[in-house]
Amino acid sequence: MRRALKYANWIVPAIAVTAVNVDIPSAIVRAETTDSLHKLAGSAKSRVLVFRSDHFELYTDLSARDTIELLDQMEAVVSNLGTYWGRPLKGQIKCFVVSDLSHWPTELLADAAGRTKIGEKSGTTLTERLSKDGEILSTRSVVYAFADGRTPQHEVVHAFCWQTFGRCGPEWFAEGLAEVSAYWRKDGLPHCPSWMAEYLQGDSAVTPEMVVDDRLGDRKPWQMYAHRWALCFMLANNPRYSPRFRAFGYAQVTGRPVAFANRFPELEGQMAADYRALLHGLKADQRSLGTVVSDSTRGD
Ligand SMILES: [Zn+2]
Repeated sequence: MRRALKYANWIVPAIAVTAVNVDIPSAIVRAETTDSLHKLAGSAKSRVLVFRSDHFELYTDLSARDTIELLDQMEAVVSNLGTYWGRPLKGQIKCFVVSDLSHWPTELLADAAGRTKIGEKSGTTLTERLSKDGEILSTRSVVYAFADGRTPQHEVVHAFCWQTFGRCGPEWFAEGLAEVSAYWRKDGLPHCPSWMAEYLQGDSAVTPEMVVDDRLGDRKPWQMYAHRWALCFMLANNPRYSPRFRAFGYAQVTGRPVAFANRFPELEGQMAADYRALLHGLKADQRSLGTVVSDSTRGD
């Protein structure tokens, strides 16, 4: 169990300690209505405020209490990623986190794609990239997310990668890593929801090779995301794979991609067996992955 707990902090155990020590009250400088926001708030009954923390400029209609909790989690995600990649976030991420679209005048949330995604209780990250002769000069991401907790955390991973590296890597990797972060909790063991555990346990014929090659057939997007989460969770936490997975990921986001099968020649053998064990283990404990991860790495 001790071993399982160690793996439970999805990157390295020290991250949780660091995150706990983040001084949130001082990190959040202030909540304010900017001039334009103030005008809108007065004229359109907007409840939107802007909060600024070390790494975020957050526009939201959440209560101050919920916003501070959200920023606490989002700052922890940024801290995790900075430690994982050995590179701090470049710049600050602008986010729109929406609880109720009726609180948002169009002038305040003008991006149509962002509004659409939020209306679907989902999110999207839009990135502008400036490059010259193939060299990335700068990137700026804007997150649009429904305020359900996990969606902002997911999108923050994309924004971090875009702004810091100018890339996110292949889709299965980018989405899997974002999902690992979306379900990571600062205050306890990471978990996957019971509905996801039930689904994955019942679809255990999927192999890592199918996930990496995007051969998931006509599965629904949320089912594909579940498998991407499971594979990235295993690769980031199982010491058999985690050092190579980090190196693989770093190569992807820094524009020096390597073939997954070259980095992991055991893709069809040991890794497939470990992945099956992970999925089967989800049935044993749907509330926590601690035991499951321990099972999947037995014999190391
Ligand atoms: Zn995503």
